[in-house]
Amino acid sequence: MLTFEAAEIAADSLRRDMEIPIQAIDPFQIAQKLNIGVALSGPEEVSYTLKLHDRYPCIVVSEKLTPVERRLMVSHGLGHVKEREVTDFSHRYSFECHSPDRIEKGQSVHEYFAHVFSMALLMPRWQFNLMVEKGMKTQEIADFFGVRRVDALYRKRLIENFNKTLLSKTLGIDGE
Ligand SMILES: [Zn+2]
Repeated sequence: MLTFEAAEIAADSLRRDMEIPIQAIDPFQIAQKLNIGVALSGPEEVSYTLKLHDRYPCIVVSEKLTPVERRLMVSHGLGHVKEREVTDFSHRYSFECHSPDRIEKGQSVHEYFAHVFSMALLMPRWQFNLMVEKGMKTQEIADFFGVRRVDALYRKRLIENFNKTLLSKTLGIDGE
C-alpha cells in the first residue's frame, strides 16, 4: 500500500519535473536525461538487468526483446533507481535485478516498487481511469500508451487493488 503510493508519486513527480507527455513516452530518453545508461545486451541475456558501472546505474536490456518490451524494462529499471532516492532507508536496496517473471510469485518490495513505477510512468493513473470510464477496450488503451495488452490489464488490476484497499480503509475494514 505504502509502496504503491510511493511509486505512483515518484513516477508522477518525474513526469511533472521533466514535462513528460502522456502518450507513448520514451523511457530511453528519460534515462538519458537522468544520466542513467541504457545498453543492449547480446542474446545471452534473457530479459534485463540493472548493473553498476563505476557506481552509476546502467539498464541492460536484451536484444531479444521487442521494442515495446524494452520500453517496459527500461521503465522498470528507472523504478529501481528512483526507489533508491525515495526509500533508501532500508539498506536492503540492491541494483541486482533479473527476470521480471519472478515478480508475480515471490515479489519483493523493491520489485513491486519498480513494477508500479513503470506502470505509472507509462500509463498515468488519472488518464488510465478516464479511458476506462469512457468504456475504452483494454486493447485500445494499450495501443494509446504503446504497451502490450497484458501490461494494460496489469495496470488495471493494480489500480483496482489500490482502490479496494482505500475503500476498506475508509469503511474501517482491515485491508491488506
Ligand atoms: Zn526489477
